[in-house]
Amino acid sequence: MADKYTSLVSRGWGRDVAKRLGLPQPVELRRYRPGEAILSGPALLIGSGPAAEAIASALSSWGIEARREGAADAAAPRAADDGARSPKLGAIVLVLDGIERPEDLSAPLLAAGRALRSLAPSGRVITLSRRASTQDEPSLGAARQGVEGALRSLARELRAGATGNGILLAEDVPVDAPSVLGALRFLLSGRSAFVDGQFLTVGTSAGGLPADPDRPLEGKVAVVTGAARNIGAAIAKTLARDGAKVIAVDIPAAGESLAQVANDVRGTALQLDITRRDAGERILEHALGRHGRLDVVVHNAGITRDKLLANMDAAKWDSVIDVNIAAQLRINEALLASEHFGDRAHIVSVSSTSGIAGNRGQTNYAASKAGVIGMVRSTAARLAARGGTANAVAPGFIETEMTARMPFATREVARRLNSLQQGGRPQDVAEAIAFLASDGASGISGNVLRVCGQNWMGQ
Ligand code: NAD
Repeated sequence: MADKYTSLVSRGWGRDVAKRLGLPQPVELRRYRPGEAILSGPALLIGSGPAAEAIASALSSWGIEARREGAADAAAPRAADDGARSPKLGAIVLVLDGIERPEDLSAPLLAAGRALRSLAPSGRVITLSRRASTQDEPSLGAARQGVEGALRSLARELRAGATGNGILLAEDVPVDAPSVLGALRFLLSGRSAFVDGQFLTVGTSAGGLPADPDRPLEGKVAVVTGAARNIGAAIAKTLARDGAKVIAVDIPAAGESLAQVANDVRGTALQLDITRRDAGERILEHALGRHGRLDVVVHNAGITRDKLLANMDAAKWDSVIDVNIAAQLRINEALLASEHFGDRAHIVSVSSTSGIAGNRGQTNYAASKAGVIGMVRSTAARLAARGGTANAVAPGFIETEMTARMPFATREVARRLNSLQQGGRPQDVAEAIAFLASDGASGISGNVLRVCGQNWMGQ
């Protein structure tokens, strides 16, 4: 369900009034449904050479018509008045792995610009380029970093639910590495509806694409903390939909709704306060005892105890740190010490845009959520030797009971302060987590993926 304002301005006189007054015009976003086509129309592929060929063949293997345009002469594919016969572009994909100087950006970016008017609602613009590094020649570093500035600005110019995101490849990662293709498919699809203005970095060629793209977690056992409601319940449902056996964890006081979620997803419930010192051992014991293995850990449980720092007391500060970060660290330590966890395991932690940009009244919460980012980066390095990954997802404004309790005016403003001019749904966070938990993302580790509609807060 769209929020009331979005429903009002999506059609009829509401849309006309909003347009005339220059008010935000959010639209209902295209979201993933198993079995549906990845895109609503063809993709325009900008770029040439073997990398562009590889992407063209991946697209066509996914049933997407790839229209090739040389970077120099790329134009809008068909005249607008031809629209009835020619479907609008589902996506514009720019293969930029060969750029060497900032000047090299002009032809492909201007070609994309000419095609933008033909982009369908909830269309996609995606760049594939090399990650800038301190080892680069200055002009090469400038060109590569330039892609990020251009894409983030372009994403802010898109309308009607369209998004712009990029994939950054480490130097030795080929453009058809499993996680490059996995990331491309995720970003093209409705799974990434509320991901906007973001980059995923593929650091290695590890991983493989699933036999059934609608069941990428088939055979995996996943634990989700804080699974009794809202984002955690959506994560449990999404991982189960994608094929995983789910262990739903929450505090005993949430036992009834926890049992309901576990039932709905045909998984098991584990009543556990994650701040218990033996929480990691309890999770492992349950996973091995009931399901024989553990492949995926989603640290979602989190709390807020907001106060300006001048009014903060130790109980508020400490409880937030304990639930949101210290418990995760202890659980990871226990899991990583076990021989039954770690080989090709995927850890995904829920951070927050407050942990990136800071937020008034949330010094404790932002310390814990920035801590999550530090934790996944260090944990990624420790898991790398065993083929595992650790990543964070940072949600922005998500429509939950927590945000529903905000005062009307604050909520209405907060919800519009992003490029998509609306709040995300728990489902949107869950889709990003499901992708990072899959083997199609095995080459992606130590990343922080924001699911925030390109919130204006921080980068
Ligand atoms: P929520 O309060 O609705 O749900 C959190 C769940 O965690 C609850 O079921 C709760 O019982 C459980 N939990 C709390 N303490 C626990 C403990 N000690 N042990 C086990 N379970 C515990 O929160 P939500 O809005 O669904 O948020 C989920 C996560 O997303 C949190 O980490 C939150 O910080 C983060 N987040 C939310 C938003 C948003 O807009 N809602 C934005 C950014 C980040």
